[in-house]
Amino acid sequence: MNTKKISREQSKYRSELTITSLLLGGVALLYTDIPFHIMVQTFIQGVGDATAAVKQFFVSIFIEPFVQMEFSDFLGILMIVISLGLMIVQIRKRMISSSYESHSCPLCDSKLHRIHRNRWQLWLSKTLYLSSGYYHCDTCDHSSLRFYQKTPHLHRG
Ligand SMILES: [Zn+2]
Repeated sequence: MNTKKISREQSKYRSELTITSLLLGGVALLYTDIPFHIMVQTFIQGVGDATAAVKQFFVSIFIEPFVQMEFSDFLGILMIVISLGLMIVQIRKRMISSSYESHSCPLCDSKLHRIHRNRWQLWLSKTLYLSSGYYHCDTCDHSSLRFYQKTPHLHRG
């Protein structure tokens, strides 16, 4: 008996087993009445309910406040947002203009050395979309953070 013959025997046995189990299953289903259609219906209903609940949740959070809002409220929020934007632009401008000094200490006029910025300083310069440098004076221990307009060819980071 070679291996090919064995595998053929096995596959024959397997298909017979499948046929038998299908037959037995079919007969069993005929004799019992499991309410499959009700189970499917319940499942679909459940999915539908869950979807509706989720939809309702998002509507109540993101859409309803805006629909119910009065026009004056909307206008007020708009003005606040615009003023905050302008404020940031103004702060940004101030920071740039005050940093166009030479690399000398504002207190003792010694030469400043560039040192590493910490995480918050990096975060601040990223938020303002400005390049920045952190400088330290060895003579009087003064240190200051300076901002520059982002210039692609200078790579100040
Ligand atoms: Zn100094």
